[in-house]
Amino acid sequence: MLLTILMASALAQSPVLQADLHLDTPTQMLTKGLHLDAKEGLEAGIPQLKAGGTNLVVEVLWPPRKSDHKKRTFALLEAVEKDVERLTDVHIAREPDEARSMVNAGHIAVLISIEGAHGLGTDADWQSTFNQFYERGLRLLGITWSFSNRFAGSSGDGGGGLTDEGRALVALAREKRVVLDVSHASMKTTMEICEGSPVPVIASHSDAKSLRNMKRNLTDAEIRCIADSGGVIGLNFHAPFVGPGANIAMVADHADYLAKVGGHGVVALGSDFDGYIKKPIGLEDASKIPSLWAELKLRGWTDAQIRGVQGENFMRAWTAVRAK
Ligand SMILES: [Zn+2]
Repeated sequence: MLLTILMASALAQSPVLQADLHLDTPTQMLTKGLHLDAKEGLEAGIPQLKAGGTNLVVEVLWPPRKSDHKKRTFALLEAVEKDVERLTDVHIAREPDEARSMVNAGHIAVLISIEGAHGLGTDADWQSTFNQFYERGLRLLGITWSFSNRFAGSSGDGGGGLTDEGRALVALAREKRVVLDVSHASMKTTMEICEGSPVPVIASHSDAKSLRNMKRNLTDAEIRCIADSGGVIGLNFHAPFVGPGANIAMVADHADYLAKVGGHGVVALGSDFDGYIKKPIGLEDASKIPSLWAELKLRGWTDAQIRGVQGENFMRAWTAVRAK
């Protein structure tokens, strides 16, 4: 009895796990000399994250097209590592239970992701580069950014599907139990990765094409495939993807649509804050995110469904990937 009471009170006290699957904050840090805990200049710095309840963040290593891709990706990682070392309540999480313990302790869990496998560089031995990133915490990999690379076709340039090297990369990611992220990928790449995938596949920051016909948004077939894999789709806040005059209600429309096509369990959050986005009215930075949960509640989403979008859907997918 006492144990039950203790467990119930522990549950009542644990903070809601709230994940944002796509933050470009490392790019702002590197290019503007800002730190994760900057009081000004970031949309998803620690003060904004804490004010909005986000406690699990995917920090993205994105090498711009015109850069030394591998060097830049390592430099972004180093910038994150340095801040994490300095901050006492921010840590890089390598496993789901580790991330949850950090969150339960009131700290922020950081997951490392590469956006665009061009970040692995041009060497023949890209596998050892992948392994170096993995050792330093890489847990998610976006296969492409806005242009096709040696591994896969992008939605940005009408690219094709996976190349032979791309198939080898998918296999290596699965062997290392790294989450594959198909945001930005061409439809062919997405379907090749997703169809028959033994583990959940995610699209970290993409909206629904049926609501807003943009190359970066997902077709119903892609939404269904990701849902069938057990994966999640992070709602992207970038106004051109949401729709003209984007606001909280329109972001919620995408949530409703993703849920209609793929079930409530497919919906997650991938704001793209600090990624040079045009923000919806009412969602100007990470402190404003609770307004989105309020909107979903008004629309009849249950508390459990909202907790799913907040982070539990992603935790389910990530746990499944790590378990394989
Ligand atoms: Zn992106």
